[in-house]
Amino acid sequence: MVTQTDLSTYNLVIDGEAVAAENGEYFETVNPATEDAFARVARAQKPDIDRAVSAANSAFDEWSSMPPQGRGRLLSALAEQIRAQQESLALLETRDNGKPLSHGRADVETCARYFEYYAGVADKVHGDSIPLTDDYVDYTVREPLGVTAQIIPWNLPTNIFGRSVAPALATGNTAVVKPAEQTPLTAVEIGKLATEVGIPDGVLNVVPGFGGEAGAPLSEHPDIDGVSFTGSVPTGIEVGKAAVENVTNVHLELGGKSPNVVWPDADIDSAVDSTMTGIFANAGQVCSAGSRLIIHEDVKAEFLDVLTDRIEEMTVDSGETDPDMGPLVSEEQFEKVTNYLEVGQTEAGEPVIGGETLDRDGYFVEPTVFDGVDNDMRIAQEEIFGPVLSVIEFGTEAEAMEIANNVEYGLVAGIHTQNMGRAHRFARDVQAGQVYINEWFAGGEETPFGGFKKSGFGREKGLAAVDAYTQVKNVCANISPTRERG
Ligand code: NAD
Repeated sequence: MVTQTDLSTYNLVIDGEAVAAENGEYFETVNPATEDAFARVARAQKPDIDRAVSAANSAFDEWSSMPPQGRGRLLSALAEQIRAQQESLALLETRDNGKPLSHGRADVETCARYFEYYAGVADKVHGDSIPLTDDYVDYTVREPLGVTAQIIPWNLPTNIFGRSVAPALATGNTAVVKPAEQTPLTAVEIGKLATEVGIPDGVLNVVPGFGGEAGAPLSEHPDIDGVSFTGSVPTGIEVGKAAVENVTNVHLELGGKSPNVVWPDADIDSAVDSTMTGIFANAGQVCSAGSRLIIHEDVKAEFLDVLTDRIEEMTVDSGETDPDMGPLVSEEQFEKVTNYLEVGQTEAGEPVIGGETLDRDGYFVEPTVFDGVDNDMRIAQEEIFGPVLSVIEFGTEAEAMEIANNVEYGLVAGIHTQNMGRAHRFARDVQAGQVYINEWFAGGEETPFGGFKKSGFGREKGLAAVDAYTQVKNVCANISPTRERG
């Protein structure tokens, strides 16, 4: 058992310094593989949010007027530092979140890659020139929004930190980042690295704390000019309302219940691989998880045989041993997912495999597959955010499409088939912000990402994030000789 004195301390990062919360309060963060607290974290509340926003405001003029290649060089330096700290950041992420160490390493590399990618974008944020009549010169300029807020969820903390913060800084905005209370540690560490590489004080502030105490005052703050929120639909609605009250830019990256359609002509081994990655990576706690397997009746039996054989070989253990799957992030998430295991048994009967929790400390559940699922069941419609796959059978292309789209979310969608006409008809008709063909999680930092329907609006990743973090100014000059004096 860890005692209070063993806990390492993580402070807020405000104006380039690691500082305690104004009222001196801390909260503990728990290792989900052991249920032990292992770090204490400064607990930001409204006065701390005010300090961070004020620091970001003061830093804005210097940062936004720095030549873009200068900003790019600093972001490159941060990318290098994040890479140099890959092992320690990955271990921290694994202890905080539970994910397998190799996934933690991949998330740190992704974060570094976001800073590297947007470092290169910084000096390529162009406006347009718009042809009017000969009497006018018209052009647009892309300007930063100002002080931006990034509210981050617990499932991919380091990855989403990079995804949300790097484009904000590259385009000349300053940032106040609120990591999730379950997984705040890598954000604090990266905030300190930013100061070390010479990013000016106040440009990147990190304020760990709870949703109501820190997230709400941040999203409601009148001096915030743009909000990037990644998290659940109900919280996204609250954040969206607060942004509208202040007439502030906002984009919402929310949940999903994404369809993974498999046809008999698919390469079964690789489709099983993709399906497993899609639902068991990060113990299913991924917004773009492929949580609905929509499978053709002619291939279902064979596919499920291969799938269950492969699941039996999976290792489920503490993330530090680098298993195939770690624990769920928290007791709350464990209770939510185990409740869905009961709902699934009531709706669809005994699972084909899994369905139990592990008899040990930590928030472990088995990888689980429910067959015989109807698309109107709760386990087909609601985001479980755990390693639980719902299998729905189809016979025709029209049926597959109907099942794929008949859900309130629209984040991503995937199809496995050798028939490219069919694959592209699916891509055309499916309601989702990203479509994967013959691989789950295809794409990278360069590819725009965001939701249709209840999965949100606005886009991050790729050059689309430049639109999200800038505002367009149009300049029109009358150059006709009749306007000139003398
Ligand atoms: P959540 O909505 O509970 O919390 C997300 C963040 O919002 C946390 O930092 C939390 O502290 C903060 N928050 C909570 N209440 C707030 C409030 N009233 N005002 C402002 N901030 C507040 O979500 P979660 O449980 O941490 O994350 C899981 C959800 O995130 C899932 O639905 C998942 O699909 C979604 N997600 C979406 C994406 C995407 O890119 N679309 C990526 C990852 C996760």
